[in-house]
Amino acid sequence: MRVAYGSLRCGKSCRKCDYLKLGLCTGCRLPRRSLCLAYRCVVGRMRVMGLTLRCETCPLAPACIKSGRFSPPKPDMYRELDSKLKSWSQKPPDIILPRLVPEIPLEDPVRPRKDLGMDGVIVSVSRTDSENVRRVEEEGIHDFLDFDGQVLLSTIMPDRLLTGETFSFTLSFAKKAGFDGVIGWDMPVYADYPKALNLSNLIEATLLTIKYVEEGIPTIPLLKGGDPSEIAFHSEWLRRLGFKRVGLHVTEYILAKSPVNIGVSRGFAKISEDLYSLGLLKIYGIGAKLLAMGILSLKNFPEFYKSDAGASLAGMPWLIEARNWRAYTGTPSGVGVINLAKHFMECNCEACSGKSPSQIARSPDDIAWHNWVQLREYAEKEKLDEKPAYDMMLEKDDVMAVIGDLHIGTPQSLWLPCLRRLKKIHPTHLVLLGDTFDFTKGKPRASHVVSFLRLLKNLGVHMRSVSGCADSNVPAFLETLGRFAFAKGPEEPQLYNPNQMLTEAIRDLVVLWRFSKRKIKVKLTNGKVVVLSHGHELGFQRNADPEKVMKELLRKKDPNEVRVIGHYHKSLYRPEEGGIMLGAWQATTSEEKEIGFSPDIADMLIIRGDGSTELVKGM
Ligand SMILES: [Zn+2]
Ligand SMILES: [Zn+2]
Repeated sequence: MRVAYGSLRCGKSCRKCDYLKLGLCTGCRLPRRSLCLAYRCVVGRMRVMGLTLRCETCPLAPACIKSGRFSPPKPDMYRELDSKLKSWSQKPPDIILPRLVPEIPLEDPVRPRKDLGMDGVIVSVSRTDSENVRRVEEEGIHDFLDFDGQVLLSTIMPDRLLTGETFSFTLSFAKKAGFDGVIGWDMPVYADYPKALNLSNLIEATLLTIKYVEEGIPTIPLLKGGDPSEIAFHSEWLRRLGFKRVGLHVTEYILAKSPVNIGVSRGFAKISEDLYSLGLLKIYGIGAKLLAMGILSLKNFPEFYKSDAGASLAGMPWLIEARNWRAYTGTPSGVGVINLAKHFMECNCEACSGKSPSQIARSPDDIAWHNWVQLREYAEKEKLDEKPAYDMMLEKDDVMAVIGDLHIGTPQSLWLPCLRRLKKIHPTHLVLLGDTFDFTKGKPRASHVVSFLRLLKNLGVHMRSVSGCADSNVPAFLETLGRFAFAKGPEEPQLYNPNQMLTEAIRDLVVLWRFSKRKIKVKLTNGKVVVLSHGHELGFQRNADPEKVMKELLRKKDPNEVRVIGHYHKSLYRPEEGGIMLGAWQATTSEEKEIGFSPDIADMLIIRGDGSTELVKGM
């Protein structure tokens, strides 16, 4: 054994160290500078949990050499652990787990569904005094979740909760609520923690894990360690305690793989990754099965799932993503998500079949069940089908109006007559086909912006907006916002007391800007998909021959698609070929007059949910 002497990470001389004598510590073998807490704290400016960067107020001071208050943890606790290990005769039973175990937060649960292959779940708690905790104590966890499968209690919690008091809570909570087992006890142990603190936390975690077993609770311990030697002796204790299933919290290691996310150095990421691999090796080495905690998303799906048939994976990213309206799907290049906050998804998976796309898009629980089913499928097949996603889906009786090139801001804009026409037709859906505002050649007035959007709102339609050429130029857009921000008189008074209408106009423009997309896809009930874009992306001059534009528009088109564009201010109606060009709601401009171009004005395209279309001619 090589022992490094001198000022060590724990701050204690190895020569006098009880831990070293007990064989608990092998000394600091890693390069001292990169792991020394004082170095990280002062020079590295690294954020370490609990560090205040001032020794006077730092809660870690007793464990940090820099503070001058360093006192190594008393070895009494270790002696207790040592005697427990020596006299240990129990054989904790192997806890049979499904391969994939959903983790569900007690404060915001989703109902576990056995019919979707959720045979066991892990419940995590983030509070000990909530209404849900009280209800679970009363009803029992199985009734609370309406679930008769296996339910384990996870003790992985925010560090501030990992106290003796919380431990006692979990002990009685697990029994009272009828949990089928416990995962833990967890304690904070980090690669950049003072070694002395890691040691005492590991000892305490092991002692409290033993307590669960002694109380007759089926227990899955968590393997931890801030450096290879810590992982080595912790896994040795777990081996001597006879655990057949050991948990490893993977999140922090996977996070560390992408240093940008948590702002740590590449070196630190490497250390975390190495510790993670070592943890895996140790668990296999002591003949235990693995429970990998904190994973279960399509991203970072671990490679060992296939190679280690005994391993179980647990986590809640699939649920968190569902709560953020993200639904799993296959993509041409692999896997990804569909944002259901702004799309509808067609899916016939076990979880989705029989539900309408709009129902799924409104229900985070339905998305969660879908994600779960996709995750299972991905685990087995390592690929997923791509789920079609649409911006809107029409029902049979729905009527969608399409309006092109309003050019609000130019004197020729016909936005008011257009809104009047819309009011008469009262469609259920509306698509603005781009160049709704004209920031480049026009100068929209704030009052027009505000009344246009207010009147639109009064129509009560589902609206989508395509971004065009005259309304997507960034400098021109910012120029307009700036003009609204400082429209009246000296600037200082406006800073303190902005004009309400101008403020509303700015907000409306920003919202519409963010809301607008280059392409809108609408699904009809006859299976056709209408794809709407502005049309400038085809690259023709504004006064190009419409037949030529149409030919380009129809190139490489899916037979199921109907493509609709504006921009050329010409209507060319060829629905049977799958292409429609739509004129403008802008009267002839002087420029157009000069070159002898006569636009089609005030045409409106009507598309019904049943697939029928109609071009309502204007003038
Ligand atoms: Zn689905
Ligand atoms: Zn345009």
